[in-house]
Amino acid sequence: MISEAEARAKILEAVRPLPPRKMSIWSASRTDSSRGEEVLDHFAAEDYFARLPLPMFDNSAMDGYAVIASDCKKGARLRVIDEQPAGVDRKLRISSGEAIRIFTGAPMPAGADAVVMQEDVTRTDDEIVIKVDVEVDEFVRKRGCDLGEGQKILGKGDRIVATKLALLASQGFAQVSVGGEVRAAIISTGDELARPGEKIQPGQIYDSNSVLLQSLLKRSGAVAASAENCNDDSDSLRAAMQSAAKNEILIVSGGVSVGEHDLVQSTLRDLGAKIDIWRVAIKPGKPFLFGQLGRCLVFGLPGNPVSAFVTFLQFVRPAILRMMGANDLDLPKMPAKLTVDLTNDGDRAHYLRGKLENGNFAPIGRQESHALYGLSRADALLRVPPGETFRGGDTIPVIPIN
Ligand code: AMP
Ligand code: MG
Repeated sequence: MISEAEARAKILEAVRPLPPRKMSIWSASRTDSSRGEEVLDHFAAEDYFARLPLPMFDNSAMDGYAVIASDCKKGARLRVIDEQPAGVDRKLRISSGEAIRIFTGAPMPAGADAVVMQEDVTRTDDEIVIKVDVEVDEFVRKRGCDLGEGQKILGKGDRIVATKLALLASQGFAQVSVGGEVRAAIISTGDELARPGEKIQPGQIYDSNSVLLQSLLKRSGAVAASAENCNDDSDSLRAAMQSAAKNEILIVSGGVSVGEHDLVQSTLRDLGAKIDIWRVAIKPGKPFLFGQLGRCLVFGLPGNPVSAFVTFLQFVRPAILRMMGANDLDLPKMPAKLTVDLTNDGDRAHYLRGKLENGNFAPIGRQESHALYGLSRADALLRVPPGETFRGGDTIPVIPIN
């Protein structure tokens, strides 16, 4: 049995970012409707730098009049000589005693150094009377005040969120280079499994892991390429694994423990796979397995639903993110106040399921690896390291899961 940290390090060592691809900025957001399936945020495959300043030219922040500030004491009269709309630079110029009608976003005329809001003037024909004192640069958005040319706007490995896409668009980029697509196959093993919707026989249970894993894969940004059920026999398992190994990732649910019906490890070995990890000091999830079948990374998750859930988040998700070229592989944490005392006197890190409410974390449901209903009521995990005691009232970081 190895520690969680060792397991994670070994997995990440085996993972290489996939070759990047160019994507339209219109497809790089959260939902890719052209494929009819949800694809989560992508990660930049290179650094991007501003090729234009923002704003690109000095322009008006208001509908009003472009003026020379030193002309504009309260009560001053100015002659309106022309009009500068947004969208075209008419290359206008003003001299002392003059004003130019201007609109939000329009380029500042040469010679003007301020804008007076139209609410702050009285206009009659071609003359305005200024009702306020005006300062230099008032209501002028200066070229480059937000972003300078050459400044980094997106770093390699950064998540491309809506605001970053907007920034790329502001620079005229129609495409962005993103990390490769991770395709993953799911095989749920077990003679006892029936598909939801099927008629169930005595002794059977419904397969809940396949849909759990499919959903988690999608939420991690991967494509769930297939989900197959497989009985506990080596021949079917071998055939299923062989065909699934064309994907970047294969997730096998169940069959990784020590019973006679746990055939995943031996079948993988028969196929020539390299087994890097079997058994990790994590609770739930101890029988977790990781190996490589050709170029396919194989994650063997224990069949108990909570074990499958926890080991997916701790071991599969970071591998997917690294393949997609992400920098940040960790689930976000947030501080919460514990409502009860908790001790872990075992030798494995314990992931407790709990409810987060008003900043408080309270364990919820049965804390056993089969307890799917308990898991479904939880919205956060709390990691209690081996030998650790936390006291009610302590503020500790928890991992929101939804
Ligand atoms: P295993 O890891 O195959 O020893 O399975 C451990 C426990 O998880 C057993 O009680 C299985 O019935 C249950 N289990 C295995 N696969 C699934 C699945 N796909 N959905 C729900 N429960 C499962
Ligand atoms: Mg089984």
